[in-house]
Amino acid sequence: MESKTLRHLKTITTHRKLVREGCFAVGLYRQGLLHDLSKFSPQEFLVGAKYYQGYRSPNNAEREDRGYSSAWLHHKGINKHHYEYWIDYSASEGIGARPVKMPPRYLVEMVMDRIAASKTYNGDKYNNGSPLAYFLKGKPIITMHEESKRELEFLLHKLAMEGEEATFAYIRRYVLGNDGAFKGLIGRLVHAKR
Ligand SMILES: [Zn+2]
Repeated sequence: MESKTLRHLKTITTHRKLVREGCFAVGLYRQGLLHDLSKFSPQEFLVGAKYYQGYRSPNNAEREDRGYSSAWLHHKGINKHHYEYWIDYSASEGIGARPVKMPPRYLVEMVMDRIAASKTYNGDKYNNGSPLAYFLKGKPIITMHEESKRELEFLLHKLAMEGEEATFAYIRRYVLGNDGAFKGLIGRLVHAKR
C-alpha cells in the first residue's frame, strides 16, 4: 500500500488541478496556478501526511488529536480564498472578530475550491447542487461578512440551478468583469425578495 505521504501528495495534486481548471475557466490564471501552494510548506505538509485519512480533511483529525489544527491556522492565515483570512477586529466598535467583505476574485476562488472539494468528497454522488448543500449546512455558524455570504450563496444557487458553464460565464462577465453590475444584481434580487 502507498504511504500516507504519497496519498496526501496525490490528494493535494488532484485538488489543485480541479481548482486550476475552474480558475482558468473564468480567467483567474495566477490564482489558478498558486492555489493552495502553502500545502507544500512543512507546517502544512508534514501534518497533512501524518493525519491523512482519505475520506475527510486531515485537519479534522489533527484537531481531534491536539485540540486545534496547527496546519489549518497556518493555511487560512496566508490564503485569501478562505473567508477566515478576512476576519479583522474593530477597536472603535469593541468587536473582537469582525468579518470583512471578500474581494470578488477571492470569493470566486473560494467557489472553485468548494466545487473541487465537493467533487472529491462526494465522488459519484456529486451533482451541481452539492456545493450549495454543503454551504447551507454551515451557513448559520460561519463568521463571514453578510454580503460575501449572500454573494457566495447566490453563485452556488446559480450553479445548482444552471450548471457550471452558465455560472462560470456569469462570473466572468458580472463578478470579475464588473463588480458594480454584480452588486447591482444582488441588490435587485434582495429587494425583489422583500
Ligand atoms: Zn485553501
